Amino acid sequence: MMDHDQQPTTMPDEYFMEIALGLAEEAAESGEIPVGAVVVCRNRIIAKSRNQTEQLTDVTAHAELMAITAAEHYLGSKYLTDCTLYVTLEPCVMCAGALFWAQLGRLVIGASDPKRGYSRIQTPLLHPKTRLETGILAEESQALLAKFFNRLRT
Ligand SMILES: [Zn+2]
Repeated sequence: MMDHDQQPTTMPDEYFMEIALGLAEEAAESGEIPVGAVVVCRNRIIAKSRNQTEQLTDVTAHAELMAITAAEHYLGSKYLTDCTLYVTLEPCVMCAGALFWAQLGRLVIGASDPKRGYSRIQTPLLHPKTRLETGILAEESQALLAKFFNRLRT
C-alpha cells in the first residue's frame, strides 16, 4: 500500500505525459489511433493504458476509460478525487462523462481535439471540482497522430 514515511517528490507534468506518449506510440505500433493515458495518485502511477478499440473490437476501449477502470480497481474506490489523469489527446464526450462520474481530481491533456474533443460542447462536462491543465507535450502528441494518419493514407 501507500508508503507514508516517504516524502513524495513532485514530478513535473511532462514526466507523466512522456509515459502516456510512450503508451500512445505502442498503440500506433499495433494499428490503433495513438492515444495513451496514465493515472497518478500521490505521485505514484496506479494505472496505464492506451487506446485498444481495434484489438478489442470495442468503441468504448478508449485509453481514458480503461485507465479509469484500472485505477478504480487498484484503489478499491469508484472515485478518483485524489488522482490526476494524463492523456495525450483531449478526451471525447464519452470519456469526459466518465471522468465526471469518477470525480477526477485533475485532468492533464496533451493535444486538443477540435473535432471530437469534449470542449466543443457548450455545456461543461467535467466535474466542477476537476482541475484542468492543457497543452502538455501537445506538439509531440500531435506529431504522433499526424504520422499515424499519414501512414494510413499512403
Ligand atoms: Zn474517449
